Amino acid sequence: MTQLNCSVTSCLYNQDHYCSKDDITVGGSNAKRTSDTCCESFRERNGSMCNSTGQASSTVDIDCEATSCVHNCGCKCCADSIGIGGGSQACHCKDTECADFCCK
Ligand code: SF4
Repeated sequence: MTQLNCSVTSCLYNQDHYCSKDDITVGGSNAKRTSDTCCESFRERNGSMCNSTGQASSTVDIDCEATSCVHNCGCKCCADSIGIGGGSQACHCKDTECADFCCK
């Protein structure tokens, strides 16, 4: 499990910069740089929708499609910790990124 800090506060699953999903998928099968990656599990929070009721945890199981990353071990993230960036304005998964992507 990887420690995850997520700045995407517009995501339904974000609770105080932790993620309330048990597992997420990072996309970026042809990634060469950080901006080519994204959190595919992002789901936009809207005004009528309550927060996710899942329990946020500091560690998450991460499936990762960015096989060109040094932290990718058989399509799983094997970094000790990562950050998902995108901030409060993200409204689509493409607005998010894995801040710790590092091309081999
Ligand atoms: S953007 Fe991804 S990592 Fe961040 S809270 Fe949403 S699902 Fe979790």
